[in-house]
Amino acid sequence: MPEGHTIHRAARRIRSVLAGNVLERVVARGPHLLHAKAEQRLLGDTVIEVEARGKHLLIHTAGGWSVHSHLRMDGVWHLYRRGERWRKSRTRAWLALGSGEWDAVNFDGPILELHRTDDLLRDRAITDLGPDVLIEPFDDHEYLRRMRRQSTREVGDAVMQQRIVAGIGNIYKAESLFMSRIDPWRLVADLSDEELLRVRTTATRIMHDGVLDARAITFHGPGQPGQWAYGRYGLPCRVCGTTIRREKQGEDQRSTYWCPTCQT
Ligand SMILES: [Zn+2]
Repeated sequence: MPEGHTIHRAARRIRSVLAGNVLERVVARGPHLLHAKAEQRLLGDTVIEVEARGKHLLIHTAGGWSVHSHLRMDGVWHLYRRGERWRKSRTRAWLALGSGEWDAVNFDGPILELHRTDDLLRDRAITDLGPDVLIEPFDDHEYLRRMRRQSTREVGDAVMQQRIVAGIGNIYKAESLFMSRIDPWRLVADLSDEELLRVRTTATRIMHDGVLDARAITFHGPGQPGQWAYGRYGLPCRVCGTTIRREKQGEDQRSTYWCPTCQT
């Protein structure tokens, strides 16, 4: 599943080619988009902003319309210059928005809808999100308040809850907790505010790096760039040599990787 840094990166790139520009080409094949007559509504409209909120990507127009995209496991946004060969089949392109030399194309997007901007921004899918780990200033007070309301969750599960803090996915869960030296199986109730804030500030720092270089690289030491814990099941911890462990965690049963020696 794409993590928040992927969505912020996509929003930044789409913004750079569409914001302020009139939509000259619109192809909308997604079922919801067809129903909403997206081609007729968007053609000739002007994109005024492209933003990421957690893992949601929103494209707003001057005409008061907004495209709402969530990529879940399989969706992706690509940018193409006019005439450039697409890297996926055109039949899988559910939305293409073009202006000047560029087209922004969504492939396989499981959530891809057109709404009135006012209505979308009042929808609970958006309003229920916790503060976005990649948007400054981050509201630490609100983050702690939302954490404390879910105090019986394990912290490795809690940081994945988009209603507590938006944007953190499975890779950055493992990496933030490792780099904060916190055991993912501890209950939120047993963590201090300082520990919870340490996880958050670590996530923000390493995810900003991810926005810049596209990959979720957190380890830049000797050898191949990679991660500290994520994906390293059975390998020796890069810090202490203890074997990295992996277990399913939380209501979605996502894999959690951790070092039982470094993370306490
Ligand atoms: Zn270790």
